[in-house]
Amino acid sequence: MTELLRVSHTMTLSWRYGTSWYFAEFIRALRDERRLLGLRCPVCRRVYLPPRVVCGNCYAELSEWVEVKDSGTVRAFTIVHIPIVDPTSGQPRPTPYGMALIQLDGADTTLNHYLAENNPAKLRIGMRVQAVWREERRGTLSDIVHFAAMNNQTMNDEQ
Ligand SMILES: [Zn+2]
Repeated sequence: MTELLRVSHTMTLSWRYGTSWYFAEFIRALRDERRLLGLRCPVCRRVYLPPRVVCGNCYAELSEWVEVKDSGTVRAFTIVHIPIVDPTSGQPRPTPYGMALIQLDGADTTLNHYLAENNPAKLRIGMRVQAVWREERRGTLSDIVHFAAMNNQTMNDEQ
C-alpha cells in the first residue's frame, strides 16, 4: 500500500488585473456610487451584468449603461467544500461556503457571487437575494460581501 504524504503550503501570489473601459466604469460606479451598471444591447435589448463590450447574441457593440438593482434571483448554486484561494483577498476562504449564479433585477445575465447561507437545505433555485455591501468600498466585486435572502424570508420560503 502506498502511503500518501500531505504537505501543507500556502503560496503568496500577487498580480495586477487590467481592465478595459467598460469594466473600469462598472467598478468605478460600484466603488464611488454603490451602483451596479450593466450594458444594454442596442439591437436585442439584452442587459449584461457584469458588462461586456459585445453582445453574445447578435455581436452588436454595447455602449448604453443601465442601472441594475442589487437584488436578484438565484439561478444556480453550489456549496464549496474544498478550500481555494479567494482571488479577491489572496487568502484561503473558509469552507464550506455558498456560491450562486444570481440574475440581478434588470439584468438578463447572471453574476457569480457568494451567498450568506452555506446550508444547501436552506437554498433553492428561484430564491430572492439581496446584496450585502461592505461598509468601505475598495473597487472590487468583493465590495459586495455576499448575497443574503431578502426581507427576512427563510431561504426555504417561496417568494
Ligand atoms: Zn444583442
